[in-house]
Amino acid sequence: MISDRLKSVIRDIPDFPKPGIIFKDVTPIFKDAQLCTEVTEAFIEQLKGTPVDVVAGIESRGFLFGLMLANRLGVPFVPVRKPGKLPFSIVKKAYELEYGSASIEIHTDAFEPGSRVLIHDDLLATGGTAEAAGELVTELGGIVAGFAFVINLDFLKGKERLRAFSDNIITLTDY
Ligand code: AMP
Repeated sequence: MISDRLKSVIRDIPDFPKPGIIFKDVTPIFKDAQLCTEVTEAFIEQLKGTPVDVVAGIESRGFLFGLMLANRLGVPFVPVRKPGKLPFSIVKKAYELEYGSASIEIHTDAFEPGSRVLIHDDLLATGGTAEAAGELVTELGGIVAGFAFVINLDFLKGKERLRAFSDNIITLTDY
């Protein structure tokens, strides 16, 4: 089962990047090419019946499976980035996260209005980042087709914040 396969390689790093945070290190997943394929296929399986026009991946770990997934779906990938990284015109959203505050940006021509956008990141914690991404997508006239995360920190109740955008919240392993 994909959840067990993922749990067997994801590493807990205590007190990173701040005291009290248990950081879920996903880098071992990327060392296993077969597991990367299984992760992508698990997303594809759960996306059956969900039309997706664009995958939006959140910087930076959301770029990795984000592009794999978009490519597998045969749709464009667009990056949602930290401030000051995107070179073209942007829309920006500030938000709170588990350890601090931040903002994210997306290119104004990332997709056409009316596009069904799947938002992807490696991990769902409080949901603040993905919620901000949902707001950016909506601001550009997109429709949030759903969310796809490798990991869900269920005790932080991030899913509850995202339901305003879509009930279609895919997570492959929960803690
Ligand atoms: P949040 O906005 O609280 O849902 O936080 C999600 C974002 O922060 C994602 O981009 C994650 O990669 C990162 N993140 C938050 N908490 C953790 C954690 N415990 N381990 C690894 N990454 C985390």
